[in-house]
Amino acid sequence: MKPDFAQQRAHMVAEQIEGRGIKDTAVLQAMRSVPREHFVLEEYSPYAYDDNPLPIPAHQTISQPYVVAFMIEALRLQPTDKVLEIGTGSGYAAALLSQIVAEVHTVERHQKLMWYAQERLAALGYDNVSVHHGDGSMGWPAFAPYDGIIVAAGGPVVPPSLKKQLADHGRLVMPVGKRSSQNLVRLVRRNEEKFTQTNLGPVKFVPLVGVEGWGRG
Ligand code: SAH
Repeated sequence: MKPDFAQQRAHMVAEQIEGRGIKDTAVLQAMRSVPREHFVLEEYSPYAYDDNPLPIPAHQTISQPYVVAFMIEALRLQPTDKVLEIGTGSGYAAALLSQIVAEVHTVERHQKLMWYAQERLAALGYDNVSVHHGDGSMGWPAFAPYDGIIVAAGGPVVPPSLKKQLADHGRLVMPVGKRSSQNLVRLVRRNEEKFTQTNLGPVKFVPLVGVEGWGRG
């Protein structure tokens, strides 16, 4: 029997997302609409709505649904915003973002992952997402400034280039700490020089590999 993914998705949002305190209606709506089963490897599709990360090619992972929802909610996005994501991976978070804001740019260092994500996002009709290939630890200056920046990989510090590419009143959410475990931090740009930082709690992400991350890899 074909699994009923729509039902699994509705259940996932009710239990894992709304049930754990995510309130932003745009985030909830996006989580209810994006078909996560298309972003995981085919053999993992029965587990697409499980409460954990799953493997994707190149030894990377698609994040746990709750963690993605939590990070996106922390960005406090508006429909007119332009957002930069570092670490496209499967493209799942980019698809969610595309339902919430006007314009999404996402950067992936693994060329194959970038290709797969680009193809998948286009096939599913997410046409306000641009997928770029390169080292996102230095951001993506061509389309800066960004109202929101979300980093899906952990680095030792918030890369100075990302801070520079944040708009005034822009928000950045990123795991910062050691290679093996990090704290999720939110940075808000108050003006040209001033940023305020909040600690949102412990997380575990794959490393941000790049010039302003963990070396060149
Ligand atoms: N947002 C993704 C999860 C990505 S996992 C999703 O929804 O599926 C983190 C991704 O960051 C990996 O694909 C990894 O290759 C990528 N990455 C690590 N360092 C990077 C860098 N410097 N620039 C761009 N991507 C990077």
